[in-house]
Amino acid sequence: MLNSGRMTLGIEVVLLTAAAISAAQSANMESPGRPDPQIAAALRQVSAQRIQSNIEKLVSFGTRLTLSAQDPQSIAAGRGIGAAREWIKSQFESYSKDCGGCLAVKTDTFTEAPGDRIPKPTEISNVYAFLKGTDAENAKRIVLVTGHYDSRNSDMLDLSGDAPGANDDASGTAVSLECARVLSKSKFPATIIFLTVAGEEQGLNGSHHFAKMARDEGWQLEAVLNNDIVAGDKSKDQDHLVVRVFSEGLPSAATDQEIRRIRGLGGESDSASRQLARFIADVGRTYDAGVKPMLVFRLDRFLRGGDHYSFNQQGFAAVRITEFREDFHHQHQNVRTENGVEYGDLTKFVDYDYVSHVARLNAATLASLAAAPAPPANVNILTKDLENDTTLTWEASPGGLATEYEVLWRATTSSAWEHAQNVGSATRATLKLSKDNVIFAVRALDKAGHRSLPVVPVPER
Ligand SMILES: [Zn+2]
Repeated sequence: MLNSGRMTLGIEVVLLTAAAISAAQSANMESPGRPDPQIAAALRQVSAQRIQSNIEKLVSFGTRLTLSAQDPQSIAAGRGIGAAREWIKSQFESYSKDCGGCLAVKTDTFTEAPGDRIPKPTEISNVYAFLKGTDAENAKRIVLVTGHYDSRNSDMLDLSGDAPGANDDASGTAVSLECARVLSKSKFPATIIFLTVAGEEQGLNGSHHFAKMARDEGWQLEAVLNNDIVAGDKSKDQDHLVVRVFSEGLPSAATDQEIRRIRGLGGESDSASRQLARFIADVGRTYDAGVKPMLVFRLDRFLRGGDHYSFNQQGFAAVRITEFREDFHHQHQNVRTENGVEYGDLTKFVDYDYVSHVARLNAATLASLAAAPAPPANVNILTKDLENDTTLTWEASPGGLATEYEVLWRATTSSAWEHAQNVGSATRATLKLSKDNVIFAVRALDKAGHRSLPVVPVPER
C-alpha cells in the first residue's frame, strides 16, 4: 500500500529510506530558517533611542502603581498610573497615524474587586493595539506581545511614593510599543496585538482579565510573548548577549485525561508553550537580533510568576522573556542608598541597546509567526498496528498559505528539534524510525520558507 510518491485516496505517501533519512539528518540538523527581507528591514528600524525616551517617559510619571491616582487632575499633572495609561494610548495612536490608521487602539477596562493586594474596588485598564491581518482567512489567527506598565516600590500599597519601574516593567512596555511602531509599517496575513497590561504587581489582574476575555470570545491566539524585566541591568555579572525564555512543561490548562496521555507518551517537554520557545530559538538563529535566546524549561523563575501564566491558565501558548541576570537591589525597592548600596529601579541601570536587541527578537518572532501559515491541523500518529516504521497524517494547514510540510524529530533525551525532513505537499508521511525512540512534530511552510509552529502528533483514535 505505501509506495513512494504514489497517490492513494488523494493522499500522497512518502516512504523514506534509511539512507535518505540519514542524508536528511546531516543536511538539515538545526538548520536556520530563510530570513525574510521585509522582516529584516523592519528589524533595522528598531531604535535604542526611541526605547530610551519611552522608558524615561514612563519613569517620569513618578509611580505607576495600579492603585495610584488616575483622576483627571493627576493625569493632567502627569503623575500616577492614569497618566501613564493615557500616554501609552497616545503613542499607539501616533504610530497608527503614521501608517494611515493601520492600528486599532483599544482599552480593556474593568473594576477589580478588593483582595489581598487591592484594598478597595479599583479600575484597571489594559491598553492595546491591533494590526489586523491582511488575509481574510488568516486574520483571525493572532500573535501577541505584552509587558506590564504598572510598577511598585518596597510597599505594594504605597500609593504616592516613587516607584520608577524602569526595568520592571517599563522595559517590557517599551518592547510592546517599539514592536508596534516598526511592524505597523509592514503587512502580515495574520493579526498582531501589541498589549500593555496593569495590575501585574497586585496579582496578574490585568493579564488575567485579558486572557479570559480572549478565551471567552474564542480568539485564535497562537502565541503570547511576555516581556518582563528585559532592561539588561548593568550589574557586573550580566550577560548582555543572552535573554532567557521561560516556558511551562505540563500545560497549566491540561485536563486530568490530557495529563495521563502526556505521561504515557513522554510528552512532558512538548507543551504548545515549549514549541513556541523552540520557535523563538529558531528565530534567534535566522535573524541576528543582537541577543541570543536561552531556553529555560520551567514556567518562570524559581517560585516566581508573571503575566504569561494568565494566558497559560486559559490554554494559550505563552512564554516569559527576561534578562539573563536580575539585580534584586533594583526591583520592588524604594529608591535609596544604604551602606553604600544603591536601591531602586532606576533608568541609570538600564542598557538601552540590550532592550533594543530584545525588542528585535520579539519583532522577528511576531513577524515570523504572522507571516507563516497556520500550523497543520489534526496531526496524528498511526498506532493501529504495532510496527517499527512511523506513519504520521495531518490535515492541510487551514488558511491556504502552506505549500509544503516538514516532519521534525529529536531523541527523547534532546531538548531541541534535531532533524527535519521536507515531505512536499503531502499530508501523510512514513518514516523508517520507531515512534518508541524519538519525538515527532509536523510544521507547515509557505513558498517563501516561513515556518509555522510545529505540532506534536497525538495517537490516532
Ligand atoms: Zn514585572
